Amino acid sequence: MNKSIAVIRGDGIGPEIVGEAIRVLDAVAAKFGHTFTYHEAPMGGNAIDAFGVPLPDSSLETCLSCDSVLLGAVGGPKWDAQPPANRPERGLLRLRSAMGLYTNIRPARMFADLSAACPLRSDIAARGIDFVVVRELIGGVYFGSHSTETVDGEQKATDIMSYSEHEIRRVAHVAFQMARKRRRRVTSVDKANVLDCSRLWRRVVTEVAAEYPDVELLHMYVDNAAMQIVRDPSQFDVIVTENLFGDILSDEASQITGSIGMIPSSSMGEGTRGLYEPIHGSAPDIAGQDKANPIGTILAAAMMLRYSFDMAAEADAVEAAVDAALKDGCRCGDIAQGGAVLGCRGMGEAICQRI
Ligand code: NAD
Repeated sequence: MNKSIAVIRGDGIGPEIVGEAIRVLDAVAAKFGHTFTYHEAPMGGNAIDAFGVPLPDSSLETCLSCDSVLLGAVGGPKWDAQPPANRPERGLLRLRSAMGLYTNIRPARMFADLSAACPLRSDIAARGIDFVVVRELIGGVYFGSHSTETVDGEQKATDIMSYSEHEIRRVAHVAFQMARKRRRRVTSVDKANVLDCSRLWRRVVTEVAAEYPDVELLHMYVDNAAMQIVRDPSQFDVIVTENLFGDILSDEASQITGSIGMIPSSSMGEGTRGLYEPIHGSAPDIAGQDKANPIGTILAAAMMLRYSFDMAAEADAVEAAVDAALKDGCRCGDIAQGGAVLGCRGMGEAICQRI
């Protein structure tokens, strides 16, 4: 197969980790007889420096014309003083919106060889962590109107949260379909005791559930969910929730599995084109030092193979290579438990060798 991939290297450690993911994709292409072509799409702080905006139209066009998009991470202290509308992450929000990516999928899985990195009590970790957070991505308060005004001599800020039925329904379907391929249990997270948006969320998710009688549906308030994720994560299979709650819970979920450097994510809309990235940021503190763990980005590339290109065997090969490298003791600094430490380049090489 021939597939075109838009590549957003981004800022900080972005170019290093994306470089290793591309090396792994090239190893897959060589082994399975595919051709991947890469098309650079500058975004983030480097795009502000070069083009004055975080997402130039030319980059957006590249992303919209390729079969899928691979992203490192954007942002860094150099661009913190940019006006809100021109910050690096604005580029990402614009890209998600323009690509119609309404679902973000984040697996939270503990690697057996890294259980020592799990910050939870060992008896809790021993029950296993293997669930997926399905987050609504282009609705809710992040996409409502924002304003700051002066009222009675003091500043007053307002952010509007809104959801329409169709925005809830489509992401609920993604969650139920995913549950069918897993342990058939969906936990829908909301704050229906307080928010109208959540009451609508709960009603629509319940309606969608009727189309999936083979999948169990539970409802949970977000404050309880935040607690349950650390109290007993083994109870979860698929969590579905709105944008703001999903942002927070998916970070919590990935943290309990060990290093932030290990977790991929995919963002999907209608059709097969997706945006694949690690969950972490641009880690400016270790940028350019060959210290970044590229596994999150490499596993994001595996998700691209599986979900966008329908290459299950190829995705399995990447995930197995990562597992094998970990089993053989390969560790970057963030997951090292004593012993030799590999750099970003060394870890990429170790995984390529095991494809
Ligand atoms: P971060 O995720 O970049 O870093 C948090 C900590 O984790 C740091 O100590 C970092 O060194 C470490 N870390 C992160 N990824 C790692 C990896 N692959 N290997 C080893 N260690 C890793 O979060 P932050 O420091 O809050 O944010 C830094 C910048 O990234 C900010 O400008 C922020 O806006 C941006 N950011 C971008 C995205 C994105 O592009 N999707 C997401 C989150 C944050």
